[in-house]
Amino acid sequence: NDAKHSGSHLKSYSTGMDEQHLRRLAILQDLRTALLNDRLYMVYQPKIDLRSGKATHLEALVRWEHDTLGFIPPDEFITLAEHSGNIAMLTDWVLHQVAAQIARWNEQHHVFCVSVNLSAQDLTDHQLPARIAAILAEHALSSRQLVLEITESALMEDPVEARRILEELRRQGLHISIDDFGTGYSSLSQLRHMPIDELKIDKSFILKLDSQFEDVMIVRSIIDLGHNLGLSVTAEGVENLQSLAMLEAMNCDVAQGFLFARPLKAQELLFWFQAFSSKSFSDEQIRRRKE
Ligand code: C2E
Ligand code: MG
Ligand code: MG
Ligand code: MG
Repeated sequence: NDAKHSGSHLKSYSTGMDEQHLRRLAILQDLRTALLNDRLYMVYQPKIDLRSGKATHLEALVRWEHDTLGFIPPDEFITLAEHSGNIAMLTDWVLHQVAAQIARWNEQHHVFCVSVNLSAQDLTDHQLPARIAAILAEHALSSRQLVLEITESALMEDPVEARRILEELRRQGLHISIDDFGTGYSSLSQLRHMPIDELKIDKSFILKLDSQFEDVMIVRSIIDLGHNLGLSVTAEGVENLQSLAMLEAMNCDVAQGFLFARPLKAQELLFWFQAFSSKSFSDEQIRRRKE
C-alpha cells in the first residue's frame, strides 16, 4: 500500500512538472505572435495626488488573455520574456501602445502623465533612451507625459550602469520612479546619487497598514526618507479608508489602489474620470460615496 501511494505521488508530481513546463513553452511560443497581432492590451490605474485630490497621473499595466490558457498574470509572462530575450520587444510594444493612448487622450483634452513599468533587463540596454525618444517623437509627445517605473531590485542589479541610463533619460525630461520600494536591497548611499523623482512604497507594507503596527513604522520611515531626499512618495495597494487616512496623516504625496480604482481599460477610465474628476478624494467624500 505504501509503495502504491508513493508511486501515485511520484506520478502526479511528474505530471505537475510537465504541465508547468508545457505552460511555459506555450507562453514563450505565443508571446511573440500575440505581440505582433496586438493580442495584449493595456489597462490604466489612477494615482491620486493627496494634496489636490486629483488624478492627473496613471500607471499603465499590461494584460494578456491567452486563447486557451486564459488570463496570464503579467509577472508570469514578463519573467519568461526576460529569460528568453523578448523583453525589448514587449517593452517597445507597451511604450507604443501607451504613447498612442496618451496622444489620443491629449486630442480629447484629457492630459495625463502615464507611468510605464520597465524590467531589469531594459536597464542594461544603452539604446533604451534612444528607443524611448523615437517613440515619443513618433507620437509627437512631450517627455513630460511619460514616467518610468523601475523596481528597486532592478535598479540595484547594476547600479552604475542603471544610473548612467537613467541620467540620460532624465536629461530627455522623463521622470523616474522607484517601484516596490522596501522589498529590494537599496544601499542608501547609492540611492542618494540616483537620478530619481519618486519612491513607490511596495503594497506589501500598505495592504494591512490599518492593522499592522510594524508596517506603520516602516511606511512612516520611507515617507520621511523620500522627503529628506527631495522625492515624491507614492503608496500603492491602498484598499481601505483607514489606510488612506493614515497615509494622509503621514504626509504621503500620492496614493494608488483598489479603494480609488482597479486598473481600467482606456474607455472605462474616461467614465471613471468623468464621475470623479470634479470631486476631491477627501476621506469624507469617499465615505459618503460608499454609503
Ligand atoms: P507593479 O508595477 O508594482 O504594479 C502594481 C500591481 O499591484 C499591479 O498588478 C496592480 O494591478 C496591483 N494593484 C494595484 N492596486 C492594488 C490594490 O489596491 N491591492 C492589490 N492587492 N493590488 C493592487 P499587476 O497588474 O498584476 O502587475 C504586476 C507586476 O507586473 C507589476 O507590479 C509590474 O512589476 C509588472 N508589470 C505590469 N505591467 C507591466 C509592463 O507593461 N511592463 C513591465 N516590464 N512590467 C509590468
Ligand atoms: Mg509599477
Ligand atoms: Mg509596485
Ligand atoms: Mg510589483
